[in-house]
This record gives sequence, structure tokens and C-alpha cells, in this order.
Amino acid sequence: MKPIPFVQRTFGMLLLLGLSVTPSFGQQLEPAEVKPEPTAGSVVDLSLRDFRPKSMLIVPETKLAHAAFPVIDLHTHFRLRMREATPEDLGKYVREVLDPNHIAVCVSLDAKLGEEDEHLKHLGGALANRFGVFVHLDFQGSGQTDRPETWAVNQASFAREAAAKLQRAKAAGCLGVKFFKQFGLEHLDARGKPLRINDRRFDPIWKACGELGMPVLMHVADPAAFFLPTDATNERWEELARHPEWSFADPKFPRREQLVEDFLEVVARHRGTRFIAAHCLNYANDLGALGKWLDSHPNLFVDIASRINELGRQPYTARAFFDRFDQRILFATDGPWPAERLGYYWRFLETFDENFPYSEKQPPPQGLWHIYGIGLRQESLRRIYFENAIRLMPALKEKYERTARELLERANKPPEKGA
Ligand SMILES: [Zn+2]
Repeated sequence: MKPIPFVQRTFGMLLLLGLSVTPSFGQQLEPAEVKPEPTAGSVVDLSLRDFRPKSMLIVPETKLAHAAFPVIDLHTHFRLRMREATPEDLGKYVREVLDPNHIAVCVSLDAKLGEEDEHLKHLGGALANRFGVFVHLDFQGSGQTDRPETWAVNQASFAREAAAKLQRAKAAGCLGVKFFKQFGLEHLDARGKPLRINDRRFDPIWKACGELGMPVLMHVADPAAFFLPTDATNERWEELARHPEWSFADPKFPRREQLVEDFLEVVARHRGTRFIAAHCLNYANDLGALGKWLDSHPNLFVDIASRINELGRQPYTARAFFDRFDQRILFATDGPWPAERLGYYWRFLETFDENFPYSEKQPPPQGLWHIYGIGLRQESLRRIYFENAIRLMPALKEKYERTARELLERANKPPEKGA
């Protein structure tokens, strides 16, 4: 039997009690007319959005200072999340967060194709061994927002030009290509309809990525709950109420299943290109389906960025999935994050700890529940932490090995006297 996390249990009980849910933004709900009768003692009337239960469970807790092996974090956003960072800020983050956690190399997905030199320079210099860079394409270009027919992507030369630019980006040191979730959901064709991921116009790009040895990392769709109405049955209600713009329930958006089908069609059509589905292809809630797709597409890989919330609430199923596909899963966090968040990744992957948070944030940002560790074997950890990434991008090998050696030497050095 799987234990039911305390948070889920209590959350469910509150709903059963008909506790009032007070909306202040997002969808307006009817205020509850009947307040719960106070029973024994005094019951504090509470709005769902203020609920912050503290677990009374007492179980062993493993303190891990860092990952078991130096790691490569394949999915980070050093422009989006650290927009104003000076070189000093960046150096400080490396020393104070990456080093102690034994994160050897971060791959930032934030370089704009054609302007990649800027991001390469920002993450270069003395820190060049700590970073790799992916490029992303500008779909709109100099076109007008409300006139999709003027967008770069809707000009006949788009894919051909992109392929040529990718060749230059590769020569400049970029490792791969990132596609954001807007591809499939929000980028429009000349008639104002969402562009399909499997549109033939993009074939020259997928082909070029294969020839250049640049993996394609794509964020396809979003979590299942984001495509459902934000109502009392939606398990991500709390999060969607704070971020109504993350909901794709409106029928004007393509369905999640369609987006994944279109993506897999591209993966099947371009066997010579390696595709990394970001965030477990947003199917971490259905590892049976994800496993079938990994079985039928040998050029498909997944990253686990921002999905330990999903993986860690099904520890038995997740452990079996990781054991079976440890050569296809890549470590990733969607960071840069504070050190506390990284610690939850080590705890999830390396221990059998029970019922612990997946984020330092309160309320938990991706579902009101706790997670469980899956205690992976050392062999799986090595693959997921760095071997798979190096296999996909051999250019990472030298950076990784040099930095990993330094991190381990430093960790093994006895502390200086007086320090
Ligand atoms: Zn991301």
C-alpha cells in the first residue's frame, strides 16, 4: 500500500468539511454559505489559500550536503532567472551554491540564435568550464505581434536561415537547441492558427540539428491539470488560482495529447536527431505512457527539471521507471535555484526519505503534497548525473572532468586551521 501523504489527507478532509474557499483572484467562486460547526476545542475558520499544514510525522531524515557525484544540470535559465546578474553575482552563485552542491556544469538554455555570442560571453571567461549554452529561435523576429503573417517563422526562408545560423552557433560553441512551450501552444501561423510542431516547414531545422550533433530540447505542452478547468476537482487549483495565465483549459488551445502526438511524429521522422523532452514530456503523471514512448523512440530522452513533485509522489513506480530508463534520463532542475531546492533533488534521487517537501516555497508551488525518495543505485546516479549528458554532448566532457576533479579535490582537503 502506498502511504497517503499527510498534506493530501488533510487537504481532502477540509474539502469534505466544506471549508470556505475564498477567491481573491482568478475564477470567482461562490462563498460557502454554511460554515463548519466548531467541534471539540476551537476551530479556526480558514481559507484554502492560507492552509499551511505542518506534518507531525516523525521519520528518519537524511542530510545530504551535495550530490553523490559531481553533476551536469542540463536545464537552467541563467538569463530568464538571473536577468540582472553581474559577473560578480554569477561568481558568487557558483561559489556559494553550485560548488557546495557539486554541480560541475550548468547548461543554460537562454541564448537567442544569431545573438548567442552575448550569452556565451556572459557565461564564459573564468567560468567557461562551469557552463554550456543552448540557443532558441526567435519566431516573431521583427514582425508585428498582432499580424502573424509578418512574423519571421511565416516567411519562406525561415527554416533555411535558421539551419545556417545553427551551424554558426555550433561553431561558436553552442551545444544544442531549445524550444519553449509556446511552440505548439501560442506561436501562430500566417492565418493566426497555432503552429503545429509537426509542420513540414521545420524539417530542415530538425535535420540540421541531427547533422550538427545538436540535441533538440523541447518543452512540449504542460502538466495535465493545466488543460482542465480550474475548479474544485483540479489538483493544481491553488497554483492556477495564483497564475491563471498558466491555464490552457480554453478550447482555443490545442489539447495536450495532440501536442505530444505531433512532437513524437517529429521524433519518429528524424531518427538521426536526438530529442530531449523537457520536464519528462509533461507526462510524469503517467510514467506508463512515457515508458512506452521511450521504448518506441530510441532517439528520445527526458529531463526531470521541475518534476520531482510528480515523480516523488509515486516512489515505487518512479523507481522502476528510473531503473529501466536510466540511460535516457537527464538530471536537470530548471534553475538557478537557492541551495535548499537543490537539496530536495539529491534527497529524492538518493535516499528513501519519506514525506518531505520538494520545494523551499510555501505554499508548495506545484501541488499541495510531499514527496518520497527513490534511493537510486550508484550506477543509475552516474548515468543520470553526468554520463548521459556527455554521451549526448561530448563537448561537455572536458569541462565536466576538469571541474569535477577540482570540486572533489576541494571536498577532500582537510579544512585549514583557523578557518
Ligand atoms: Zn525551463
